[in-house]
Amino acid sequence: MSGPTTGPVLQLRGITKTYRMGADNIVHALRGADLDVRPGEFVALMGPSGSGKSTMMNILGCLDVPDAGSYVLAGQNVGSLNDDRLAAIRNKHIGFVFQTFNLLARLNALENVELPLIYGGDRRARRDRAKQALEDVGLGARIRHRPNELSGGQQQRVAIARALLNDPALILADEPTGNLDSRSTAEILAIFQRLNDAGKTVVMVTHEPDVAEHCKRIVRMRDGVVSGDDIVASPRRADAELQRAGTAASVDLHGAAVPAG
Ligand code: ADP
Ligand code: MG
Repeated sequence: MSGPTTGPVLQLRGITKTYRMGADNIVHALRGADLDVRPGEFVALMGPSGSGKSTMMNILGCLDVPDAGSYVLAGQNVGSLNDDRLAAIRNKHIGFVFQTFNLLARLNALENVELPLIYGGDRRARRDRAKQALEDVGLGARIRHRPNELSGGQQQRVAIARALLNDPALILADEPTGNLDSRSTAEILAIFQRLNDAGKTVVMVTHEPDVAEHCKRIVRMRDGVVSGDDIVASPRRADAELQRAGTAASVDLHGAAVPAG
């Protein structure tokens, strides 16, 4: 567990965000959200559609800025940073994974993973790191494949490799398994659990209780605020579920007893 000197990796206080779609259509996406996440946590962010989860994730990922409230990330008050500093802190600390993978169709897996490094380091070292990242997510044999030659689960693993390239301490994933079948979902969860075991902090949005039960903590949102916060006593392990499933097409993510024989 975190010692008393381990401060939160991120802290949100009183975050509000309002979208204006024309003069008389105002959406209060966040209405004063508070959240603390400590190093090494694996948090599931749940809540009904429209409750503000993605807005919160975009703010956590420095992809968007709040209207009011404070956001401290790795000891820095993000609200005081200009766009360049915001991009720098994002690149250094955060790996972002999206539901829709966001890979470039014309580039192969290796080129997609290399993208965030294009402005830094020498070309050879960059390529080696990208290859290693793809091997780490089990795609070493598919580095020349383009997105349309990969399954959804494989595309998401490419996106995870890309997110990990700068070795961020914090991984943010917005419904990363939302478009995936149960086997691919288990594979993605196993990767996140392995990363979390190795010390990375993970915050993941999901609609599915079965998926959330693989996390260590479940934070619930409703109407733009955090409405619940629970520890998961014994998180399910995706690697065990994959092992139990063997070569079966579907994986039982609920971990119910599998009938013998
Ligand atoms: P969730 O991810 O929980 O489904 P969101 O954070 O995406 O919720 O959305 C919260 C509310 O804000 C919704 O009512 C949504 O329609 C609105 N919203 C989100 N993004 C925008 C945007 N870019 N412009 C206008 N309204 C938005
Ligand atoms: Mg969303």
